Amino acid sequence: MVSPKTIGKYKLGRTIGEGAFSKVKLAFNSNNGEKVAIKVIDKHMVMKNNLKHQVQSEIRTMKLLNHPNIVRIHEVLGTKTKIYIVMEYVSGGQLLDKMTYANKLNEREARKLFQQLIDAVDYCHNKGVYHRDLKPENLLLDSKGNLKVSDFGLSALKKPDNVLNTRCGSPCYVAPELLVSKGYDGAASDVWSCGVILFELLAGFLPFDDPNLMSLYHKICRAEYICAPWFSQSQKTLIAKILEPRPGKRITISNIIEDEWFQTDYKPACAYEFDPTVNMDDDSAAFNSIEQKTTKSKISKSSSFINAFELIAMFQDLDLSALFEEQDHKKQTRRFGSQHTIIETIEKIEAAATHARLSVEKMNNFKIKLHPKQTMTRYSRSYFDLSAKVTEVAPTHCVVEISKSAGDLRMYNEFCESLSSLLKQKSRVSSEGEDLVDQCDAGGIEKQDAEL
Ligand code: AMP
Repeated sequence: MVSPKTIGKYKLGRTIGEGAFSKVKLAFNSNNGEKVAIKVIDKHMVMKNNLKHQVQSEIRTMKLLNHPNIVRIHEVLGTKTKIYIVMEYVSGGQLLDKMTYANKLNEREARKLFQQLIDAVDYCHNKGVYHRDLKPENLLLDSKGNLKVSDFGLSALKKPDNVLNTRCGSPCYVAPELLVSKGYDGAASDVWSCGVILFELLAGFLPFDDPNLMSLYHKICRAEYICAPWFSQSQKTLIAKILEPRPGKRITISNIIEDEWFQTDYKPACAYEFDPTVNMDDDSAAFNSIEQKTTKSKISKSSSFINAFELIAMFQDLDLSALFEEQDHKKQTRRFGSQHTIIETIEKIEAAATHARLSVEKMNNFKIKLHPKQTMTRYSRSYFDLSAKVTEVAPTHCVVEISKSAGDLRMYNEFCESLSSLLKQKSRVSSEGEDLVDQCDAGGIEKQDAEL
C-alpha cells in the first residue's frame, strides 16, 4: 500500500480545490491531528511567469493578516519543485455552492455575510492589501456558516480565466475601471465586487450578465442593472451607491459601514493581534531552491492582474468574431471582431465605405460617421445615419460597432458585408511579402519582423 505523501509534519490527503498554478489539498498535522488546507504551488509555473518576487511578497503580506473572516496562513514550506502554503482548513465549502443550492438568501443571512465580507475587506485595506478578485468562489464558509475570504493578497496566482470567470465566461464581478485601464484604485474596485456579491446574495442572480462579452462590458461600464422586485428601498440605495461606475464617486468602505441597512444587527468582528509565532522568513527558504533556468515569459514582470482584454491580447490567434458578431435588430446595430490594430481597422472601415459608396467623416480617433456620396439627394442624406465605433480591446484586437438609426437598409447591409469580409482578411503585419517589407522600411514593425 502506498503511504500518504508527507510534507514536514503534514500528511497530504485528497484534493479539495484547484486554482491557477495550484491545487488545494486537505492535510493533517501529525503532531495534533488538526486538519489544514495546503495550497500546493508549482514553482516552475511561478518562475515561467516571472511571478517569484510577487508571490513571495504576497505570501508575506498574507501572513500579516489575522482576522476571523480571512483564511489564516500557518506556514510556508518548499521542495525543489513545489511551494506549500499551509492554511486554516475551512470546512463549510464555497459560498458559491450555498448560493447554487439556496438560490437567493434571506435578508438577515445575506446581510450577515455581507457585513463579514466588508469587515474582512476593511481590515485588509487598512493594511494596504487589496483582493482584486472578490467573487463567491473565493468566499468560504466555516462550520458555523461564517464567511472566510481566501486568497487575500494572492493576486499573482490568479489565472487569466479567473477574470473571464468560468461560471459566466465573463468578468461579472470586475469593476468597470479594471476593464478599461491598468491604473486603478484597489480599494474602490474591491468595493464594486462586494456590491455585485451583495446584489447576487439578495437577488439570486447577477446584476450584470450577458452572453456577449462586449454587451456585458457595456452594461458594467454603464452600471446597467435591474433590481429584483423584492429589493427594499434601503437595499436599492446602498447597492446604487456601491455600483457607481465612477470609482471616485463610489461609496467607501467606511461609508458602507455607516449605512443604516448595513448597521442592522451588525456585530463588528474583532481583528486579532499579529500572531508573533508566525514565521515571517519561511517563504524565502521555500522559494530558495527555485531553479532560475526558465524561459522568458510573455507575461510582463509587473503584471499582477490580467484583465479580460489583456487576456485577449495574450491569445494572438483568438478570433473575437464569435464573441462579438451579432445583430441587434431593434437598434440596427452590428458588432464585428477585428484582429487588426485600431489604425488598420479604421482603414478597413474606410475601404468598406468606399465600396458601399459612402463618404467618411471622422468624429474622433474611434468614431466615424458615414454619409452617402453626393449623388444622393439632400433629403435622403439627412435621413441616413450610420456610424462606426471602434473599441480597442488589445493591440491587435478591436471591436467595431456599426449603428444605423435611419436610412437605406440595402446600403447598410452592403457596407456591413463588405466590412465583414475585409476584417476577415489577414493583417498586413502577418501576411508575408511586400507589405512587410514596406512597413519595415517605414520603421513601423521591427518587433514583429524580428520574431518572423
Ligand atoms: P483557490 O486556489 O484559493 O481559489 O482555491 C480553490 C478551491 O480550494 C476553493 O474554491 C476552495 O473550494 C478550496 N479551498 C481553498 N482554500 C481552502 C481552505 N483554506 N479550506 C478549505 N478549502 C479551501
